[in-house]
Amino acid sequence: MDVKIFDTTLRDGEQTPGVSLTPDQKLRMAIKLNELGVDVIEAGSAITSEGERQGIKNIVSEGLDAEICSFARAVKVDIDAALECGVDSVHLVVPTSDLHIKYKLRKTREDVKRFAVDCTQYAVDHGLTVELSAEDSTRTEFEFLKEVFQAGIGAGAKRICACDTVGMLTPESSYKFYGGLAELKVPVSVHCHNDFGLAVANTLSGLQAGAAQAHVTINGIGERAGNASLEELVVALHSLYNVETKIKLGMLYQMSKSVARMTGVYLQPNKPIVGENAFAHESGIHADGVMKKAETYEPITPELVGHKRRFVLGKHVGSHIVREKIKEMDLRVDDERFNQIFGRIKSLGDMGKCVTDIDLQAIADDVMGILPEKPVELEELTTVAGNKVTPTASVKLKINDMDKVEAGVGVGPVDAAIVAVKKSMKDVVDIELEEYHVDAITGGTDALIDVVVKLRNGDRIVSARSTQPDIIMASVEAVLSGINKILSDKKLREAEN
Ligand code: MN
Repeated sequence: MDVKIFDTTLRDGEQTPGVSLTPDQKLRMAIKLNELGVDVIEAGSAITSEGERQGIKNIVSEGLDAEICSFARAVKVDIDAALECGVDSVHLVVPTSDLHIKYKLRKTREDVKRFAVDCTQYAVDHGLTVELSAEDSTRTEFEFLKEVFQAGIGAGAKRICACDTVGMLTPESSYKFYGGLAELKVPVSVHCHNDFGLAVANTLSGLQAGAAQAHVTINGIGERAGNASLEELVVALHSLYNVETKIKLGMLYQMSKSVARMTGVYLQPNKPIVGENAFAHESGIHADGVMKKAETYEPITPELVGHKRRFVLGKHVGSHIVREKIKEMDLRVDDERFNQIFGRIKSLGDMGKCVTDIDLQAIADDVMGILPEKPVELEELTTVAGNKVTPTASVKLKINDMDKVEAGVGVGPVDAAIVAVKKSMKDVVDIELEEYHVDAITGGTDALIDVVVKLRNGDRIVSARSTQPDIIMASVEAVLSGINKILSDKKLREAEN
């Protein structure tokens, strides 16, 4: 089986409700799709707009290896627009079901057949490769469908495509349907929609039945529930059917990410192959199994598709998994610190949060950074912020066993809290905040926040960090941890002198 990949992310994919790409975005995406190894890039529909034509022209002028195709209805203006863009081919679409012919076009079957032939002829005469496509073909009387295709092939169409426009096929009927088109003796494209979640399965069936090419989109984006997803199809072909395409599998995760970013259509975490959980394991039996031998709970390696394995540590985590992870991170912790780390994971779990590899690193760093002696400790922190309120914070610190209360205002609650801390420390040690860096290490607004600060005391600079679910707490704790480092250091040096 030799399968060609016709990517329609930039046409059917762009028809996703709410998605519209600029010519520049289309160009960048086309360059990536070409690098990924797709055979055909359907770059858009040239008739749509001036911007669309500019986008397609820019893609054509890149001189990519992939065939560049424009969607066209069976009307001459559409083909002229495609010709103006200089594309290699047109995906020439005629509706063939009576439902579409009667209610959408208000024409007859004979009309449709004539449009298909005339436009194929016209496009071929002007040097375009024609892939003649039947819209709603799976609800079309099969004999009439073949008649239209045959007439189109007679007029010079090099390939045909049968669209399951509203996703009505099943894997069984798809096999029969596309198998029945094999007798037309030109390459057949499978174009499936995912209304019942069967687009990839139906596409695989169509290919098994003899179709040569699959129409797909990155992340399966497209009208309504979308199209067959490129990444699911090619990985299933590779891993389950032993069929290779020209797709560079290792680029799939990165490709998926950039399409999500560019279109604003983000994936559900459990999306196969490229979802954030596709290679994530929860703590119990699965994580243990995967650590011993990845194949126990992974059908393919994350590396195959450029993804990464992730262990999520929640409240059910066993201590041996945490120990194992800490060993992998090359950290040496004594029992007391291990218990602190383990306790932090458990209590975050109790707060309904899970801890990823990166979170664990941050927690461990934080715990390791805890000094045996803490000259300054936070007793209370209050912040006020909002609309038409001056961001204000008050802190109560225990400094060398003496309470100190101060308040501060700032541009926001974090700033106000740091101002209050600095005021409290005024008579104790002179502190300048040189750098402040914040990262949300897990997704979502309930993410763990990692704050790294650099503090200056005279010519001495220390860096410190804190990881907490709350950004203000993380900021204050990071600064206090830095202050404690400076104070402990001072004490040590004084003792030495
Ligand atoms: Mn479609």
